[in-house]
Amino acid sequence: MTRTISVLGATGSIGDHTLDLLRRSPKDDFKIIALSAYSNSQKLIELAKEFRPEYIALGHNKGADILRSELSGLDVEIGIGREAVIEAGARAADFTMCAIIGAAGLEPSLAAVKRGKTIALANKECLVCAGDLFMSEIAKSGATLLPVDSEHNAIFQVLEHDKPEGMEKLILTASGGPFRETPIEKLRLMTPQQALNHPVWNMGDKITIDSATLINKGLELIEACYLFDCPEDKIDVVVHPQSIIHSMVEYIDGSVLAQMGSPDMRTPIAYALGYPNRMNAPVKPLKLSEIGNLSFFEPDIIRFPGLRLAREAMQIGGHATNIFNASNEVAVAAFLSNKIGFMDIPAIVEKTLDSLSSGSGLSTSLTSLSDVLSCDEMARITANEHILTLK
Ligand code: NDP
Ligand code: MG
Repeated sequence: MTRTISVLGATGSIGDHTLDLLRRSPKDDFKIIALSAYSNSQKLIELAKEFRPEYIALGHNKGADILRSELSGLDVEIGIGREAVIEAGARAADFTMCAIIGAAGLEPSLAAVKRGKTIALANKECLVCAGDLFMSEIAKSGATLLPVDSEHNAIFQVLEHDKPEGMEKLILTASGGPFRETPIEKLRLMTPQQALNHPVWNMGDKITIDSATLINKGLELIEACYLFDCPEDKIDVVVHPQSIIHSMVEYIDGSVLAQMGSPDMRTPIAYALGYPNRMNAPVKPLKLSEIGNLSFFEPDIIRFPGLRLAREAMQIGGHATNIFNASNEVAVAAFLSNKIGFMDIPAIVEKTLDSLSSGSGLSTSLTSLSDVLSCDEMARITANEHILTLK
């Protein structure tokens, strides 16, 4: 049977890997319904010509004219702007890969969730900015939620879902990023170019910076709390530079189950695409004897305070994790455009959390979209104000 598939964030790193796997699948197995991008009109044109989706959405106006003229002869419906990207999520597909970066992916992903089909979630910020809302919409619609983030996909694979009482702990692994051994005085001087040079994973810019600050692991801790309905203090983080063990579940009898594999996002994406079966992925087979040693370290929360901040935000509630996410997005963008230094990223997040997470009048659990969006907006304004005070 032909499966219908949409890819939100089709022009990004996860989008690339997803489409690479689909290219290798028999043509009759799937039909692309919708593809979305933000401003990369050229790549979206190429994808539209190759996959002939029913609908494509470009989030930004820039490039809309060329998109229309290049695709004028094709039977592809074109939408432009934020609403069009949401429409891409709403189009009827059996399987939607949610791979937009940041909170911008929330509304398109929710539109897909509401259809009650299968959601492959890479866009972790959806859960960090709106975990309560997102999970309640999943429950309401009966959608199947499959985690694509490699750590969460690993846990999903080894967790005994029907026997939660046997679970003692979730253990998230972290590569440690490019600055794992960099002393704090040098960390302050790190440039975007240095931070973008990840030792293991080749990903989009924002998540690569998040990996360098370890804020990515903070986002993932919050993501795991919502995905697996697990309190923050039952989730440990261990630095594992080789990124071979993608995460683990510890059980009350002392057993620890891990999922391993070569570090390649096509494994968790293939798991989601094939679920509940396994599908082929062109991933380098794991040869443990070639790797030799696997090492593990405690994360350093002095040099990388993002993990501590994520735990604190999770303890406060949904509005604090929303603020954590939004202020981080603002700080990462400022760092990438050379407006602030590397260590200013967690500092801006901490200042924004301090100014907003108590006494701001925001409700602790954000259960409506309008609450989520207004909290996000307030956090962005406040984070930008803090950036100005750094000058
Ligand atoms: P990229 O930056 O490579 O791609 C992001 C995608 O989202 C692009 O298609 C981009 O379009 C689109 N986009 C950007 N801004 C907007 C917007 N405002 N509105 C609509 N669409 C937008 O990101 P990644 O693929 O690296 O990451 C995607 C998600 O997956 C993130 O949440 C990330 O944390 C998560 N993830 C990624 C991993 C990886 O290996 N890359 C691993 C685990 C999780 P355009 O190209 O036009 O800008
Ligand atoms: Mg991850």
